[in-house]
Amino acid sequence: MIQTVKLIAGNWKMNGLATSLSEVRSLAEALKDQPAACRAALCPPATLVQRMADAADGSVIEIGGQDCRAETHGAFTGDVSAEMLKDAGASLVIVGHSERRQGHGETDAVVAAKAEAALRAGLSPIVCVGETLEERQAGRAVEVVRAQVMASLPASLAGQAFAVAYEPVWAIGTGLTPTLEQIDEVHRAVRAAMIERLGLAASTAPILYGGSVKPDNAAEILAIPEVGGALVGGASLKAADFLGIIRAA
Ligand code: PEP
Repeated sequence: MIQTVKLIAGNWKMNGLATSLSEVRSLAEALKDQPAACRAALCPPATLVQRMADAADGSVIEIGGQDCRAETHGAFTGDVSAEMLKDAGASLVIVGHSERRQGHGETDAVVAAKAEAALRAGLSPIVCVGETLEERQAGRAVEVVRAQVMASLPASLAGQAFAVAYEPVWAIGTGLTPTLEQIDEVHRAVRAAMIERLGLAASTAPILYGGSVKPDNAAEILAIPEVGGALVGGASLKAADFLGIIRAA
């Protein structure tokens, strides 16, 4: 295992108005006063990407989208392309979040096409995978996640900047987290699958853990060898909470 600098990425989901940009400014100020030991990114709703990129300009904060459509443009009402996110100031994009897989019927093939689109546009994709509670209880977590990694990572990711996020569906927004041993087990399996799929070039891409990461549990999760960062939902909305996680990395 080769460790690279960790990535702490916040997913604001469908939260945030113009008034919320004060949180980004506070975060940028804090990171200017005391630089972080990790990378820090925020993924706001599409309506705020441009304005958040402006608010974070000159800081270390990277800006990402939460989803993109695979096509560059066209008759896809309500959707946003990777090129549009790039144009608005994003450098990253989350693809395959379980709320997209479950709520919008996205398959592994769709997720892989979105990751390809991100690369095409010059964005670094964060590809999400994770088992449901039923799959965990049936002892199938590793098998399910491994299959998602194999089918959701396009071959073109080899040698490119990207991340995988392991997010057990049952841990997202619930306050529940897997044990440290369970996270360790799945992250090792994800790494093995990434290398099997993409070759040794995939040995340095960070594998983020996501699911109820908070300032008080971040340090122990981030200390697990194959945990290369965190994807954070609720605790990324307030600068103070998100900073607490960034400081734990
Ligand atoms: C997420 O939305 O990716 C997530 C991990 O949410 P939370 O941190 O709120 O569980």
